[in-house]
Amino acid sequence: MAITRETIQALPKAELHVHMDGCVRPQTMIDIAARTGVKLPSNDATELGKEMFVGNAASLEEYLKSYVHTLSVMQDTESLEQIAYEFVVDAAAQNIRYVEVRYCPALHLENGLTMAETFEAPLAGIKRAEEETGTKTRVIISALRTLPPSVSLDLAHAAIDYKNDGVVAFDLAGAERGHPAKAHAPAFDYALGHGLQATCHAGEGAGPYSVKQALEDCKAKRIGHGVRILEDPELEGFVKENGVALEVCLTSNLHTHTVVDLTQHPIRRYFDEGCNVTINTDSRLMDNTDLTNEFWIAHTKLGFDRNEIERLILNSLESAFLPEDEISALVNDFRTEMEEIA
Ligand SMILES: [Zn+2]
Repeated sequence: MAITRETIQALPKAELHVHMDGCVRPQTMIDIAARTGVKLPSNDATELGKEMFVGNAASLEEYLKSYVHTLSVMQDTESLEQIAYEFVVDAAAQNIRYVEVRYCPALHLENGLTMAETFEAPLAGIKRAEEETGTKTRVIISALRTLPPSVSLDLAHAAIDYKNDGVVAFDLAGAERGHPAKAHAPAFDYALGHGLQATCHAGEGAGPYSVKQALEDCKAKRIGHGVRILEDPELEGFVKENGVALEVCLTSNLHTHTVVDLTQHPIRRYFDEGCNVTINTDSRLMDNTDLTNEFWIAHTKLGFDRNEIERLILNSLESAFLPEDEISALVNDFRTEMEEIA
């Protein structure tokens, strides 16, 4: 079956790895900045979009610096509600029917919000958008490697209070080199022990040892990126045998220099070997992409055909942090709809 960008856009899709603070509309940033007195690099939406693009970042560390501007307009409940709402609306516009969005509540406390407000405002925006669009949305709470492990534990404690309101999992993000995941293992233990699931960024800015810590010390079921797993055949075998889902973000990996050329991205190798790989955006704003575009890149740069793209989409659903019956229902709906799309 031939595939075009329009076909990919039409397919029902799911996304597991995307940062809310990486997906703010430029015009929304400008509107909030006008209301709150925040200074942005530009007050023109097109120019601001260009400023936020990180295509020339030297490393993961430099890439992450761009988030300071989105975070500067995410420090009150009204802004958080609006940005979360628009995140889901924009996902629905790409035919994303299931999405897990992640963010770090501890980064939204600058202007005196309570931890509870940093959970409840985004959850309210998500609920409003879910009702309007039908796109099922769940939340992953990201702790940060660069913050003290005590903050991670606080986040895990807070996250548990919202596990019946859409929070489903715990994550660790941020600069990977020099900030080992195992320091945050108590937070993962608490989250897992109280009914949340776990994913962890690893194998992006650092090598296989970092992925091992995510799997062994933090007991992550999924790995954010995992690009460098192939450097350790034993680890690669473990990931394959255990169906560990790899949350791959192609364009982001290019921008962080995790890969030098998308045609050489190891997702092709992992997929061909039978690993459980998924495709995600990481951030729409900083990477100037969307999920349709990421699948189009998988097709044009890495030769994924229609059947393989549908498999990748179903991998995302089957690896979702949802109860089995909800996954089955979504898989059935997706399969039916995929068959109807020429
Ligand atoms: Zn990420």
